[in-house]
Amino acid sequence: MYIVMLGAPGTGKGTIGKILSKDLNLTHVSTGDIFREQINRKTELGKKIEGYIESGALVPDDVVIETVKTRLLEPDVENGAILDGFPRTAAQAEALKYFLKENKPEAKRVAIELDVPDDEIIRRVVNRLICTNKSCGAIYNKETKPPKEEGICDVCGSKLKKRDDDNKETVTKRLEIYRQNSKDLIDFYRVNNALYSIYPKDVDIAVKDIENFLEEYKSKK
Ligand code: AMP
Repeated sequence: MYIVMLGAPGTGKGTIGKILSKDLNLTHVSTGDIFREQINRKTELGKKIEGYIESGALVPDDVVIETVKTRLLEPDVENGAILDGFPRTAAQAEALKYFLKENKPEAKRVAIELDVPDDEIIRRVVNRLICTNKSCGAIYNKETKPPKEEGICDVCGSKLKKRDDDNKETVTKRLEIYRQNSKDLIDFYRVNNALYSIYPKDVDIAVKDIENFLEEYKSKK
């Protein structure tokens, strides 16, 4: 199964996507994480995309599509994936549709939309802290989910940090871009796939609701 997580930055795609990935045994693929790793490793791709990410702009479609296609051909995604942060444009959604049609014609495809009001998103993002240990990647919030010890991950004990692009100015731009593209994207998934929309006020309840929806969806097909 391929699950596409739709939603503006800060709606919980990463947090919820990672829990679903463990529960459903599907690899979590985040384009933002892939790009940040390329930037940290100072690769050619990293150098090419750094400016876009710093300013909150979208990385060009051709670069994103090539990156995702390469990732989706790796062995750990053979049985499906949770796609977090991709697609973000109608062109990316079309490219994914054709990629899956060619490579995984039998796979089920579902889209989950996380819908959160803008003022709450800004509060969530500017207070977000992430674990610097990549294999952990736990996500905290200074206001709503602080770590037990300041600056330290509860799960693995590594340092926590703020993402460079998690400031009010950049998030406002990222939100604006999301709103420009989201109607077409959501319409695309409403027509082409099963679409489940939810306001994830509480992470555990949202995960349960999504998993119930997925169970129901699987039993219908
Ligand atoms: P995220 O971690 O999903 O918030 O992504 C961080 C940044 O990476 C975004 O603000 C974009 O600059 C870039 N990015 C991630 N995924 C995509 C995508 N599917 N299309 C274009 N840019 C992306």
